[in-house]
Amino acid sequence: MRGELIFSLDCEGKWGVADALGGLHAALNDRALAQAYALLFDAFGQESLRATMAFTSLFAVDEAELRAVAPALRALGQRGHRWYEPIARALRNEDFDGWVGKPYFERALRDGHELGWHGYSHHVLSDDVPREVVDFEFAGAGAVARRHGVPLRSAVFPRNAVGNLDRLAAMNIACFRRSAEDENKLLGSRSVRVLNELNVLKSSARPDVRKHAEGVASLPAGSLLNWPRGPRAAVPDPVTIARWRHMLDDAARRGGQVHLWFHPHNLVTAPRMRDTFAEVVRYAGALVRRGDLVNRTMIEALDEGGGLP
Ligand SMILES: [Zn+2]
Repeated sequence: MRGELIFSLDCEGKWGVADALGGLHAALNDRALAQAYALLFDAFGQESLRATMAFTSLFAVDEAELRAVAPALRALGQRGHRWYEPIARALRNEDFDGWVGKPYFERALRDGHELGWHGYSHHVLSDDVPREVVDFEFAGAGAVARRHGVPLRSAVFPRNAVGNLDRLAAMNIACFRRSAEDENKLLGSRSVRVLNELNVLKSSARPDVRKHAEGVASLPAGSLLNWPRGPRAAVPDPVTIARWRHMLDDAARRGGQVHLWFHPHNLVTAPRMRDTFAEVVRYAGALVRRGDLVNRTMIEALDEGGGLP
């Protein structure tokens, strides 16, 4: 069995950091995001690789749609759901810079990537979230998806907080990416996660599709491409590259799975990632060309693992 290579990108712009819009996230403006997404699409295109691009619904619409939904977001904020407050404030000020990713959604579609779902307003969707919020997020997501007319079959939960699987199944989503912390409790510790980045002998994963009672399946959590900020900045780039090369070689040798994920905006807040990403993609592309690895989207990996009915 040949090894399997999956990429998933959490595409969200400022929606993903709505609770931390100051500091380094202030740099997530349209110009910087456009550069980051162009770099990403060009790198994949050059190696003929395809990814699952999981979009936050409201990042994939235009300004007019954001204006239309602003009163509902403001009302939820006023009812005590704090997540919506900074979003409503930005929209009220007609500040759309960093909030509109429709051009990237359209390019992902044009380039033949798989479109996935990454929340509606990026509110977390774990099982402890109030019903009013869960109803709002899923109803809004369904409406945007119907307008786009693009079937969304795979999902990445905002902040990897897994929950409400019945609602996911009702949206006709077939699979989601599991949370690394759910798979390995040790990864709940930040220092363990950082130390883990120094392991250049990391193995590939077992392609392990799990079917859940709610009628949806899940894929292994994969690994975040190191985001060299804070403590993670201490990990040298050659170590990150060696670690990914080892995982990819191991997958090719043993029929394992490598699933690489990050947020495109990470290329803005940690520019060093542009080099590590480019190098990992180049190395992975060569393995795929040689036939040592097969590049699959999340849905294709689900199908291969026997998870699609
Ligand atoms: Zn996210």
